[in-house]
Amino acid sequence: MTDVVSRPGDPKAPRPPKQEQERASEEITEVAPGVLRMQLPIWLPGLGHVNMYGLMDDRGLAVVDPGLPGPSSWKALKSRLASAGYKVKDIHTVVVTHSHPDHFGAAGRIKKEAGASLIAHKAFTTWSLQRGGATLSEVDAERMEQEAIDEAAHYHGPSLDELPALDDDDHAAIDEITTETQRMSVPWGGTTPWGGSKHPHPPLSRRMMFRAMRLLFAPPDPTRRVRHGSPIRLAGRDWLALHTPGHTLDHLCLYDPENGVLLSGDHVLPTITPHIAGSGQGDALNSYLATLDLVGSLDDVRLGLPAHGHPFADVPGRVESIKEHHFERMEKLRAASLAIGPAGVVALSHELFPEKHWGVMAESETFAHLEHLRQSGDAERWDDDGAYVYRVAAVG
Ligand SMILES: [Zn+2]
Ligand SMILES: [Zn+2]
Repeated sequence: MTDVVSRPGDPKAPRPPKQEQERASEEITEVAPGVLRMQLPIWLPGLGHVNMYGLMDDRGLAVVDPGLPGPSSWKALKSRLASAGYKVKDIHTVVVTHSHPDHFGAAGRIKKEAGASLIAHKAFTTWSLQRGGATLSEVDAERMEQEAIDEAAHYHGPSLDELPALDDDDHAAIDEITTETQRMSVPWGGTTPWGGSKHPHPPLSRRMMFRAMRLLFAPPDPTRRVRHGSPIRLAGRDWLALHTPGHTLDHLCLYDPENGVLLSGDHVLPTITPHIAGSGQGDALNSYLATLDLVGSLDDVRLGLPAHGHPFADVPGRVESIKEHHFERMEKLRAASLAIGPAGVVALSHELFPEKHWGVMAESETFAHLEHLRQSGDAERWDDDGAYVYRVAAVG
């Protein structure tokens, strides 16, 4: 065996995982009064666990973000509940912070098995609409497909070789979902919002991929859709729903003013910068920056409880560093545009990101930044044979 001694500053030394990448621990901690942190395993690039928070009251338990779909996560969920002294049927409410599979995965099953209410933002994407057999117009179909691309562009969106392993139960569950849903949910083939082709089909069997995508893109129907400022009674007190679009259009944070606790979902993570996907309409980055300010300026937030990583104390400080990161990225984009001249999203994404990160996620984030610059009057865009070309102004 070769003895590799790593020294400080040695570039070959293995980097310790970021806290969001740590494997799901079985340990359960009460992180705020009546709030348990339970970690569930996830199989997505760059992330090792998702925090399912359990909020206890005299009716039982509410859970926030109950992990990925599929039997392995479900088994972990049941075992965490048991360690905390609960069963699935004790769950009276499921809250889903946003429509990504590692957050809504088990929500439908809990709703069904425990008769729990399911709370999400009013814009929560409901793919299951199509499962009812409703026929979609071409326009709707195209829009939903577009939304699927945006979903897939998420930084911890399903990677081709890291899709959750499927077993027989999964196959049975997903076989109920129509072919139409899979067709529209697959983020490969067709075109992107910024023009040009989506990435070619991945080197998996098409059937396996369709099945996996169907599994991942089938969020449940909420029983209650909340809006910004709606109170939600959990753990014996009122939390406020804060609509925080940017990471996704339907992202919610929950704020407990009494104890200064913010359930921050994927809006504010302790060490990773959440992915912002440009969607073809609006200015996702602008929404994100504005709602970062919103949570950064809340009175007396003493504790951030993120969906990935450890609880953190300095929410305003973390908000500032994430904003700083985006401002730096826009300056980098400005410099790149100046250096290479008018260019498309893919070429500019190659200037912003190291090669190992090239791909649809880097492109959609670049697109979000370019659209923010354009909509702030800092960049021009034109169409070149179906693909957007941008030129960023030399001075902001
Ligand atoms: Zn997310
Ligand atoms: Zn997440």
